[in-house]
Amino acid sequence: MTVRSISILGATGSIGTSTLDLLEREPDRFQVAALTAQRDVDGLAQAARRTRAKLAVIGDASLYGPLKQALAGTETLVAAGEAAIVDAAALGADWTMAAIVGIAGLKPAMTALNNGGTVALANKESLVSAGTLMTGAAKANGATLLPVDSEHNAVFQCFDHAAPGSIRKVTLTASGGPFRDWSIDAMRAATPAQAVKHPTWSMGAKISVDSATLMNKGLELIEAYHLFPLPPEAFDAIIHPQSVVHALVDYIDGSVLAQLGTPDMRTPIAHCLAWPARMATPCRTLDLAAIGRLDFMAPDPERFPALGLARAVLAAGGARPAILNGANEVAVAAFLAGRIGFLDIALIVQKVLDRYDPAAPASLDDVFAIDAEARRAAQAAMEIITA
Ligand code: NDP
Ligand code: MG
Repeated sequence: MTVRSISILGATGSIGTSTLDLLEREPDRFQVAALTAQRDVDGLAQAARRTRAKLAVIGDASLYGPLKQALAGTETLVAAGEAAIVDAAALGADWTMAAIVGIAGLKPAMTALNNGGTVALANKESLVSAGTLMTGAAKANGATLLPVDSEHNAVFQCFDHAAPGSIRKVTLTASGGPFRDWSIDAMRAATPAQAVKHPTWSMGAKISVDSATLMNKGLELIEAYHLFPLPPEAFDAIIHPQSVVHALVDYIDGSVLAQLGTPDMRTPIAHCLAWPARMATPCRTLDLAAIGRLDFMAPDPERFPALGLARAVLAAGGARPAILNGANEVAVAAFLAGRIGFLDIALIVQKVLDRYDPAAPASLDDVFAIDAEARRAAQAAMEIITA
């Protein structure tokens, strides 16, 4: 059996710990090259000790000392700072999990793609903001880009990659989030604690808020467009509260292929880890008789305007997706900090999109410049709202 070297960017997060859980069940198959985190010294040091990682990197440079101390007596090398995370991504591991949250994950994910190998991508914000550049880098460097996001992993499993012309539509499902059945007045008063309480999936705070606004599904439509060769209008979203069917692929003959499973991210992660083979996971077996029924409904555009914004952004392309993402990251952080209301998130994103319309990015530097300007515009829009 060949042992594969594995790096996890964002090892202490929800996706990172699920990935570690799978690796640690089969220690003979995998060797850990690098693990990274931003501030969670304890989580990173414990994971590095357990897996005997060759390198552990903490993004916050002021935490170098504490990490060094926590890993004293081990053979794990220690580094710190933003550039050190990029260096870790350049080590050339056979398989890299890109699971940093937000645009902060873009440079490390691009670096991993530029180094070839297989990149399992959870960090959807990078693909949304720089999709063409990332898929171009994968192609140019012979890297394999595998989708971790459960819906995209489901599409990947159902999609006839040899005959994309035989596919007419791809539908991603959304649970509808914690506010699926709430009135608009109740949503206006929703708290961060209520927004992060996802009904079916257990995830990090940022993506949980995105799921509550349905911006997550909007980002995912854009993500899907970059992963599967179909026109923007071929991608659609539907509400499915049970999160059992993850995506559907419609063929021209009327056949619809779907992937089903218990909502547990370890299934799509395992699919990427073992691909093109399969590996066993501890995920609960899907018991449809116990579940009893599966419901589907159209999303409500009035209460969830973020999805409509993202659809328009997907159709327009260019710099619009990077603006959408940058403004949304700022608005979500402000909501989580208690500075704005829940409905203000989509409002701020809309205001930024209305006011800022630069040319399409041609380089990573362009993407970062567009992102920075979108963030400034979002801050300005927020000051008006909170004045
Ligand atoms: P978490 O917030 O749980 O974890 C984020 C990880 O990134 C942590 O390891 C964190 O380190 C690290 N990190 C945070 N900020 C920075 C930064 N500025 N620079 C470098 N590293 C940083 O997020 P999730 O695991 O939920 O999500 C990760 C990505 O995967 C997101 O893009 C999300 O959209 C996507 N995704 C997640 C799913 C899920 O089920 N959770 C499902 C599908 C996609 P520290 O712990 O030290 O802060
Ligand atoms: Mg998803």
